[in-house]
Amino acid sequence: MNIIFIAPPAAGKGTYSHLLKERYEFNHISAGEVLREVEKEGTPLGKEVSEIMARGALVDDSLMARLILDKLNKIDLNIPFIMDGYPRKLNQVKDYERILQKLNLEVTYVIFLDISKETGLKRKLGRATCPNCGKSYNINVDYLKPKQEGVCDECGSPLSIRKDDTKEAYEKLYDIYLSDTLPVIKYYEEKGKLIKLDGSEHPDIVFKEITSLLGVDNG
Ligand SMILES: [Zn+2]
Repeated sequence: MNIIFIAPPAAGKGTYSHLLKERYEFNHISAGEVLREVEKEGTPLGKEVSEIMARGALVDDSLMARLILDKLNKIDLNIPFIMDGYPRKLNQVKDYERILQKLNLEVTYVIFLDISKETGLKRKLGRATCPNCGKSYNINVDYLKPKQEGVCDECGSPLSIRKDDTKEAYEKLYDIYLSDTLPVIKYYEEKGKLIKLDGSEHPDIVFKEITSLLGVDNG
């Protein structure tokens, strides 16, 4: 089984990927992490990636496809895996289909976590973390608020907000989502692979929907 998580920014796909990894031992392949990993290796390819990122440019589709194939070659494909952040545009979908064909695989489901732009923005702007123990909060989401405003529940330290969580940053990401990722969603919908979930629900409910869909919630 292999799935793709696809969603507007701040819909929580990272969170659900991590939960599937932790609780059900799925492999989680995040496009961002694949890039960071190859950079750390310091190989000629890693250096190439570092240079591209340092310029603030994007890794092109063919290089990204090579890195994804490399990554898939390194893991046990009998274990279910999640793609997170790839493929994020139609050109990458074509690449990814070629990759899966090589590996004799087919996408099982594409899980679309649907949230409105307003909800995403609210979540993005409300994110807060504890610099001491790392616990994360969201001051704009009831069940993720700290008990006492601005203070960590666990250790009492003052919470901090990320500087890059701005309205402008969110809108930029959301525009890219509309222009690049929405066509991917439509593509998989037409292929009958898309499962749409309401990402604005409580995370426990969304996660339960995901696990029952994947048939892993019976233990
Ligand atoms: Zn803390």
